[in-house]
Amino acid sequence: MAKSVRKFLIAGNWKMNKTASEAVDLVSELVGEVGKTTDVTVCVCPPFTCLESVARALEGSTVRLGAQNMHHEASGAYTGEISAGMLRTLFVNYVILGHSERRQYFAESDEFINKKVIAALEGNLSPILCVGELLAERESGKTLEVIKRQIDGGLVGVTAAHADRLVIAYEPVWAIGTGKTATPAMAQEAQGAIRLLLNGHLGSAAGAKVRILYGGSMKADNAEALLAQPDIDGGLVGGASLEAKSFIKIVQAAQKQAPIRGR
Ligand code: PEP
Repeated sequence: MAKSVRKFLIAGNWKMNKTASEAVDLVSELVGEVGKTTDVTVCVCPPFTCLESVARALEGSTVRLGAQNMHHEASGAYTGEISAGMLRTLFVNYVILGHSERRQYFAESDEFINKKVIAALEGNLSPILCVGELLAERESGKTLEVIKRQIDGGLVGVTAAHADRLVIAYEPVWAIGTGKTATPAMAQEAQGAIRLLLNGHLGSAAGAKVRILYGGSMKADNAEALLAQPDIDGGLVGGASLEAKSFIKIVQAAQKQAPIRGR
């Protein structure tokens, strides 16, 4: 299936940054510039504490709201956690799951992340499942092995019926927040391999529908070359999403590519 079936998604991962009022300022600027965009899906993922105020600031725009994590249970004695249903009440559409920082600092396993992926899909959210290798794993030639383990582990129970909502983010850990970006060829090699894994899990018609984002120091000046790759369907952007101008430039780079993709 042609890659033009997949609309670019540019998602901003704000991590643990911004107060509610700073968040509204940033989002108001975004809405002013790209708030009517339909050729590219734009999404912001603020901290939980800003979701409600950002949801209000996004009202009437095409910009989508995402969260950075959730728990797989619907409710109960899970102090400090938030469920898919709670996110939905705040008009959240996307949720980042299995980010390398959660794997590293909170010891999240593929099995645990898989429970969240399933709960997100069942809760009518689009999970953005993050996968990617450490520097030592790349240097020892284990990149594809690591990605396969994370994809296979993360997608247990996911079916072709979920393909429209499922999003994968390939984020080489050595490129996150370091200013080092995978070259377009390196990212395409990994993301092409992810596509084949998706085809194996979901069948090739459904696999072709899943958006695979690149994340790892994506910036205005490297976005266009990355987005020109056949299996790079958008970006998960950390640092450059904290400032409206740099994030808007990445959205514009995707808009430039969108007609070339035939949308
Ligand atoms: C991220 O944390 O998802 C990320 C890609 O960060 P950065 O763009 O800052 O490398």
